[in-house]
Amino acid sequence: MTKVLIIGGGFAGCISAEMLHAKGYTDITLVERAPVLGGGCRTYTYGGHPYTLGPRHFLTRREEVFEFLNRSCPMRRYDQGHEFLTYIERDQAFYHFPIHRDEVDDMPDAEQIRRELAEAPGAEGARNLEEYWVFSVGPTLYDKFVDGYSRKMWNIESNTELTDFGFTPKGVALKTGPKAAWTEAISGFPHALDGYNSYFEIATRHAKVHLDTTIEDYDIANYRVKIAGEWHTYDLIISTISPEIILKDAYGPLRWAGRDFLKLVLPVEKILPDDIYFLYYANAEPFTRVVEYKKFYHYDSPTSLIGIEVPSTRNKLYPYPTKADQALHRRYIEALPKNVFSIGRNGSYRYLDVALTIEQCMDLFKDL
Ligand SMILES: Cc1cc2nc3c(=O)[nH]c(=O)nc-3n(C[C@H](O)[C@H](O)[C@H](O)COP(=O)(O)OP(=O)(O)OC[C@H]3O[C@@H](n4cnc5c(N)ncnc54)[C@H](O)[C@@H]3O)c2cc1C
Repeated sequence: MTKVLIIGGGFAGCISAEMLHAKGYTDITLVERAPVLGGGCRTYTYGGHPYTLGPRHFLTRREEVFEFLNRSCPMRRYDQGHEFLTYIERDQAFYHFPIHRDEVDDMPDAEQIRRELAEAPGAEGARNLEEYWVFSVGPTLYDKFVDGYSRKMWNIESNTELTDFGFTPKGVALKTGPKAAWTEAISGFPHALDGYNSYFEIATRHAKVHLDTTIEDYDIANYRVKIAGEWHTYDLIISTISPEIILKDAYGPLRWAGRDFLKLVLPVEKILPDDIYFLYYANAEPFTRVVEYKKFYHYDSPTSLIGIEVPSTRNKLYPYPTKADQALHRRYIEALPKNVFSIGRNGSYRYLDVALTIEQCMDLFKDL
């Protein structure tokens, strides 16, 4: 019988447990460091309000990916898509993000921006994030919407340091048409007030789950890990944590950006206008994003909870988009023996959202 070890009980670990069981694997052990499953997507409560550490709303273009989750975690679908605003202090105005062409005409420096847009050469040939944006939308829009936000997000002096970008945050530099961020995607969130939590229990019900458990040592070349002073050997290891941990920093540290989350309850029924799901803050303030959780969980209360995200180095949440960091990650992956897979957001060192994590597991386990 194949002995399977899954390291980490976030979405990637839980999906792995579910899919491997469905493929006939019966001896599955899942080790989770925290006292609960769900990782970043776990719903907690504060002041009676449900929240996750970030929005964690679900977006996919693939119906079967939505259905995969919807089967065990009934999901609400949003028909209109989500709209996000950015506050630009120098204009004293809120604008949509992604930057919307129609709103350029309302900006105090509209004439200058229109000239820069007309002259912008296009992103092809850009060598870093700064060039990508300046070549796409010109220096003024870059300066207002992207420069400060990105530098505080990544804690860097200049966006020229970001060399592996190949994307804009919402897939488009300057939007036309509807103001919603993702008009093509299926967008949703669980109906339940505890969000995705029930999924984590359902997905792992056939696995031996060890919560609050720390792996003390790794001997990945020999498929062994040490827990509570004893070595355990497996045939198949699915790791959803950073590969630098399971390979004991063999090639040096990968760089990560993190987040601190501040919670604030306000004595109002709602904070943001109906269509707006959250706010970006592109200015000098230390925070990046403000989320109103009621928008996702849909419940009535005379008070409201907002979450404020502050860039930090205290946790590993965002892999650095540089060619050097991506190359270092590849080195770690190439060092993994057969039948050890490094998946999920940290394991892949990629900006995977929930839907992409499901897709990654579907691809991996289809042939296993
Ligand atoms: C701020 C923020 C906002 C986000 N918003 C969205 C969103 O709106 N929509 C969306 O689809 N996605 C969003 N995401 C992405 C989403 O959170 C991830 O796709 C998802 O969490 C990936 O699951 P995972 O299992 O790979 O990682 P995680 O959720 O990080 O789970 C990893 C698990 O491994 C455990 N672990 C860590 N180290 C060890 C160890 N040494 N031993 C054992 N266990 C360990 C952790 O405790 C955790 O439970 C967001 C991410 C962030 C950081």
